Amino acid sequence: MKILVLNAGSSSHKSCLFDLSQPRADGPAQPPLWRASLDWTHASGQVELSAQAGEASLQQVLPTRDRTEGLRAMLDTLVQGPTQVLAQLQEIAAVGHRVVHGGGDYSAAVRVDGAVKAAIRRLIPLAPAHNPANLEGIEVLEQILDRVPQVALFDTAFHASLPPAASTYPGPYGWLAQGIRRYGFHGISHGYVAQRAASLMGRQITDLKLLTCHLGNGCSLAAVDQGLSVDTTMGFTPLDGVMMGSRCGSLDPGILIHLIRQQGYNADQLDTLLNRESGLKGVSGVSNDLRLVMAAMAAGDGRATLAIDLFIHRLRQGMGAMIASLAGLDVLVFTAGMGENSPLIWQRACQPFAYLGLRLRQGELQRSGQDQDIAAPDSRVRVWVIHTQEEWAIAQACLELLHPAP
Ligand code: AMP
Repeated sequence: MKILVLNAGSSSHKSCLFDLSQPRADGPAQPPLWRASLDWTHASGQVELSAQAGEASLQQVLPTRDRTEGLRAMLDTLVQGPTQVLAQLQEIAAVGHRVVHGGGDYSAAVRVDGAVKAAIRRLIPLAPAHNPANLEGIEVLEQILDRVPQVALFDTAFHASLPPAASTYPGPYGWLAQGIRRYGFHGISHGYVAQRAASLMGRQITDLKLLTCHLGNGCSLAAVDQGLSVDTTMGFTPLDGVMMGSRCGSLDPGILIHLIRQQGYNADQLDTLLNRESGLKGVSGVSNDLRLVMAAMAAGDGRATLAIDLFIHRLRQGMGAMIASLAGLDVLVFTAGMGENSPLIWQRACQPFAYLGLRLRQGELQRSGQDQDIAAPDSRVRVWVIHTQEEWAIAQACLELLHPAP
């Protein structure tokens, strides 16, 4: 069964085609047959199209700003040219869409219908940078792939299990009726890596307390108890929680009142300041990319050193909070760009948790293309570095929804 996955963003579209006709296994993700992307930031009035299938690849710049035209051109690379893997688009059995905000209503993948589209549209004010692009991706693919079932998987869905004390903000009670509450994000990734860690350990997820750390451009932690998210660091928006590449994470809200009153900031300026000019980038003045900040630190740059110290401090605080919500810890997981690739983060993040009996392997820890357990053999907590596979998880969820296991 060929399943297309689309991750439609405001400035890029990423897509994969999986062949899931093999029996479902709880094993590692299979590589996609084909993957492609559209980058709308290339130059005004143009889009850069890249596609890859096995060893074959292509790269083109197309003279269009039209999303439908771009997506059509991307799907054409499935059925023609060097990356062709299908005879016709009708071979696609389902399309899975990553949708960032599903509000409090969706706890699992859903078949897209009018009500689901209306919900995604209604939630645009809560995810103005993401939900419009996600909805547009769904509507364009509905036109191109008439009658092919479309499935939405929400980044918030995994956190639908948050208990009220974790999902409610201590503001006025009326906020709840207005939808102002913690939703949590990166749920597709947290759910996948938690399940993958349990499978790699040969354990049932329902027997484990896991802390999953998704540390990429955006960073969030999740406390996963018996397979359910019971706490997470991102909140009403993906700005809350630990420090990130260019986002600040949690702050004293009094700072915002101060900036508005004393420096005349408006909402758009605050949005830019907190989402794009803060975090590792804002403190270091170097970059939002950990690799560049680490290089500056190694060269003796004091601001870069402070940025990394602060990142680790905030990460440890978040981990401690999640461990408190779990009331214990069996497994710690690192994933996403920084989490999969930075031994410095593994070592420094884990250091204060030695009191739990958490010990990393001795000797030099190294990144690997494989998922790896980096805990010492006698550690009381297993520590896994797992490569997140969000597209694969979306394809699996589509298959499960449309053809549930007997
Ligand atoms: P993601 O959002 O998962 O693609 O993560 C992107 C981020 O991962 C980049 O901005 C870097 O900060 C970080 N990253 C990627 N590769 C490495 C690496 N080899 N070492 C440290 N950080 C990395």
